[in-house]
Amino acid sequence: MREAFPCTACGACCRSLDGSPLLAALDRGDGVCRHLDEETNLCRIYDERPEICRVEDMHRHFADRFSWPEYVALNLRACAELHTRVY
Ligand code: SF4
Ligand code: SF4
Repeated sequence: MREAFPCTACGACCRSLDGSPLLAALDRGDGVCRHLDEETNLCRIYDERPEICRVEDMHRHFADRFSWPEYVALNLRACAELHTRVY
C-alpha cells in the first residue's frame, strides 16, 4: 500500500494562496485561506476541503508523469519553500 503524504500540518500552504487563480475562491484576501484555523493551523472544513487541497487525491492528475515517491518528493520541496517563505 502507498504511504501517506508526510504532512506536518504546518499550515504554510494554506497561508500561500496568493498567486494561483485555482485557489482564489479560498483566499480571504491576504493569501490566507478563509477556512484555516489560525490558532491550530488546521483546516476547518477538512472533510469537505476541495480536491486541490488533497495532495494524495491530486496525484491522479500527475500519475502519468510522476510516480508516487517522485510526486511526494516534489511536493515536500514545495512545502519546504513555502515554510521558509511564510515563517
Ligand atoms: S506546507 Fe506541506 S507540510 Fe505544511 S501543511 Fe501544507 S502540505 Fe502539510
Ligand atoms: S480549504 Fe483547508 S486545506 Fe484547503 S487551503 Fe483552506 S484551510 Fe487549507
